Amino acid sequence: MSRSRRAWIGTSWKMNKTRAEAVAYLAELREWSGTSSLDVDVAIFPPFTALATAAAQLTPARRAPSADRPGPSLHLGAQNMHWQANGAQTGEISVTMLLDCGVSIVELGHYERRQHYGETDYSVNLKASAAITAGLQTVICVGDSEQDRQYAVAPEVVARQVKVAARGIPSHALASVVLAYEPAWAIGTGGQQAEPAEVEAIHRVIRTALRQSHGPQGAERVRVVYGGSVDAASADRYATQTTVDGLFVGRSGLTATGLIGVIEEFCAAAPDAASELVFLEGSAHDSC
Ligand code: PEP
Repeated sequence: MSRSRRAWIGTSWKMNKTRAEAVAYLAELREWSGTSSLDVDVAIFPPFTALATAAAQLTPARRAPSADRPGPSLHLGAQNMHWQANGAQTGEISVTMLLDCGVSIVELGHYERRQHYGETDYSVNLKASAAITAGLQTVICVGDSEQDRQYAVAPEVVARQVKVAARGIPSHALASVVLAYEPAWAIGTGGQQAEPAEVEAIHRVIRTALRQSHGPQGAERVRVVYGGSVDAASADRYATQTTVDGLFVGRSGLTATGLIGVIEEFCAAAPDAASELVFLEGSAHDSC
């Protein structure tokens, strides 16, 4: 079985790292990507305070593989944004500000933001629409809680999150959307890794929800990835699932070495891409 979408691996640093630490991390990542031939999208989500510094480390000349040498593409991401272009929103960041810092992808709807900062499916949708209209890629996080799992309602909970988040997004724009399935019970300290078969089942639910909202072609454009206590030792378990297009990692991506380990293990175990099926615009090479 071959993979039809380019692999995507992302990591959020959450509320970690100074600018100096960001520089050291990205120097190590850049050095690795300069020698690696893995054809994979790698997205790094530093805190807002390190974005401009990180962007300087990841200028296009430094981060893109050349036409004759395929390799990882490094993308700079932000961990959140407001949907308004500007205005009286103390403490918030707009899409214009993110673009000004060199950001190309924004993370929306992470469980921690839903749980502690009042993020809802509807605010995620407003943010996703604003981001995509402005030309940013998005990674939209969805996931069931421990209670949803106990009550066996995870499929409908996740399907609803997906449908609300993706509402109104044009079908062609779904190529710039990554959906990260991150069950609340699997992420962070004390999280329990989801079994690959469980991930596979929910990823199918996500794809079905997208088919219902955007038709089969639109649904095929979205990359669906898993996040929750993954490290280099476990990345291969998910890579062999054909519904898993990549991974989103937290703790194991806090060091460049840890992230590189996850990327290499995932890519080593992932089936090759069928190049004729790659829907991602601008993706010229086969996936890892
Ligand atoms: C996360 O919080 O999104 C996450 C995937 O964290 P971890 O990998 O540390 O479980």
